[in-house]
Amino acid sequence: MQVTIVGAGIAGSATAIGLSALGHQVTVCEAGPAVATGGSFISLATNALRALDVLGVPELPVGFPVARQRMWTASGRLLGDVARGRRASDPTLSITAPRAGLVNALRDRCRAAGATIWPGSRVAGLSDDLLGVRLADETILESDLIVAADGLRSPIRAALDPASAEPVYAGLYTVAGTSALDLPRDSARDSAFNMTICRNGAFIHLRAPDGAIWWQAQINGALAALDVSEAFADAAVPSAIIAAATSVDRPQPHHLLDPAPSVWTSSRVALLGDALHPIGAGQGAAMALEDAAALTGAVRGASTVEAALAVYEAVRRPRIAKVLRTADDNRNLKAAGSLSRTLQGLIMPLVLRHGYERATGWLYDYEPAV
Ligand SMILES: Cc1cc2nc3c(=O)[nH]c(=O)nc-3n(C[C@H](O)[C@H](O)[C@H](O)COP(=O)(O)OP(=O)(O)OC[C@H]3O[C@@H](n4cnc5c(N)ncnc54)[C@H](O)[C@@H]3O)c2cc1C
Repeated sequence: MQVTIVGAGIAGSATAIGLSALGHQVTVCEAGPAVATGGSFISLATNALRALDVLGVPELPVGFPVARQRMWTASGRLLGDVARGRRASDPTLSITAPRAGLVNALRDRCRAAGATIWPGSRVAGLSDDLLGVRLADETILESDLIVAADGLRSPIRAALDPASAEPVYAGLYTVAGTSALDLPRDSARDSAFNMTICRNGAFIHLRAPDGAIWWQAQINGALAALDVSEAFADAAVPSAIIAAATSVDRPQPHHLLDPAPSVWTSSRVALLGDALHPIGAGQGAAMALEDAAALTGAVRGASTVEAALAVYEAVRRPRIAKVLRTADDNRNLKAAGSLSRTLQGLIMPLVLRHGYERATGWLYDYEPAV
């Protein structure tokens, strides 16, 4: 069948790989250029890697494995040391990669699987009968299946349900960069994903294989209200990393859809990835990859597009509802007041030692239905 995918980001490229491998004729309309750029780094937990595996991508040509996640107080006290993005017993390690490198690697794989990407093709919405996509120049592209993987501001989401919510600022923004700080090579901070919990947010850093420090600062409050060095002035290691920064990206706001979209599919159209559930840092890309694997599995197993989309929706709804609830809880934890932070400092070492795996294991255990 003919498939049109809107958006060649993580969700769209991964779905194109899966559906092309099933023998379908896949065209991907991408508003941006052929080669993605920018966007700092992203981590893929083991559930994301498992989804990629079932899509036929057992290994990525980008990124590096990260075994441990270490949590620190602003004063440099170690709160906990846990397996990063996996169960401790899982030998598969999470991967951290440049975001653009990951997207370009997936685009290469989808072209190799037979899909065609049209860069510079912005989709404006759906045709009036909802059977085709409407390009910005008003051309209608009809197909048997339309996959809306067009991210946060999806015009397809709005066309499927004009009453669906507009994205709102989630009260959190990220500033990312690189640093040349020559941190002492102490084994507690090397080859690990370090998260320092500070008054104004969380500061993440890890050492890339070339020795550079990659960092991301997640800052609570009004967008760009605080300069990144001001936000982490109370934390010794983060402020030294920022002082030696070799690049600092523009502040990037995080968004929510509130309420979450109620319409996921029509007889021919499926929403997935951030177009449906902008979960944000940590698991947003993983959910996009799981969606791609679930949709591919549903298409493989069903005799009609309508039946496949019903299966896709039934499989994904409970999982996404649970992940969205967890993302809300995590946001509230990061935005906690100073009393709560003091309590966190006391309780977190215990929770990380005894309850972390129980609290997070369900995320990583997910087996994509194929
Ligand atoms: C700071 C930050 C850090 C993050 N870190 C992580 C992490 O470590 N791990 C993790 O799992 N997730 C992380 N996420 C979340 C993750 O980045 C997203 O969930 C993921 O990129 C969603 O992929 P997507 O393909 O659905 O959407 P997008 O990445 O937004 O891709 C959408 C694509 O559609 C194209 N497009 C948009 N509109 C149109 C149109 N009208 N017509 C045609 N094409 C269009 C865009 O150009 C783009 O290529 C992070 C998010 C942020 C903000």
